[in-house]
Amino acid sequence: MEKEIHALEKYIGKKQPCIVCKEDNFIQYAKENYFQALKCSSCGMISVNPHFTEEGLDKFYSSYYKIRTTNNELSLQRKKMYLEDRDWVHNFINSGKVLDVGCSDGSFLDVFDENLWERHGIDLTSDALTVAKKKGIKTHQGKIWETDVGDGFDLVMMRGVVEHLRDTIISLKKCSEILKPGGILFITASPAGNSFAFDVYRHKWKLFTPYEHIHFFTVNLLSRILEDLNVKLLARHYQYEETPYANYEEDFSQIISDIEKIKLKGGLNNVSQSPPFPGSMLTAAWKKSL
Ligand SMILES: [Zn+2]
Repeated sequence: MEKEIHALEKYIGKKQPCIVCKEDNFIQYAKENYFQALKCSSCGMISVNPHFTEEGLDKFYSSYYKIRTTNNELSLQRKKMYLEDRDWVHNFINSGKVLDVGCSDGSFLDVFDENLWERHGIDLTSDALTVAKKKGIKTHQGKIWETDVGDGFDLVMMRGVVEHLRDTIISLKKCSEILKPGGILFITASPAGNSFAFDVYRHKWKLFTPYEHIHFFTVNLLSRILEDLNVKLLARHYQYEETPYANYEEDFSQIISDIEKIKLKGGLNNVSQSPPFPGSMLTAAWKKSL
């Protein structure tokens, strides 16, 4: 995996202005090998900058489905999270026409009752979509902003996806266009740019995987983009204690002891990867205005 990523080094693009506010003043927030994350001095958005070009990402993701499906324990934990996410969004809507953007093999959509939902999914990889189709999901192949997926959706979801997109704004714009008035946009399992653990661990934060996680949004920054698209924040949530990854005692003890080590000479070199921690992942729902 590491070797494959190093072979992609030539596909790193040019430095971009801030994706949210378009300003061009940054501080370096984290750095790993040839990737760095920059934090916008104006709005606080953190992005890997520069990041892979479209071509580099296409090459990276062509092996992605294979990587994700080979780990069984992770699949089981992810299944529990699918149910948590579904139950949370059911607080706002529980039937209709749904699109999962970045649906992979349809595992998340599959926890939505097919008698209540007309289930659509879009993804890049045909191998994953073949599996999704067998689950009774209507599949679309391509990138959300340039693919005709229909419209009139009651629910559009992005689970662990928004941080992967290079140009999130045009993707969110497309999502807002295909939603019905009153429809819900659900974004979940995305690394939060205002996470305490990210601030402590920087490049050692477990979710800082700069070849794939490009943008570290916050609910407020997403809301700022969506507000212009007539989509307003309904509710937000930060999953931790309900996840199969959490362990209060261990996670809190580790972060306390790691902070002590980071204070010493050597700083972040004294610690390994961060533990799961409250506030690391964002979940939120927005509603398209009537
Ligand atoms: Zn900015």
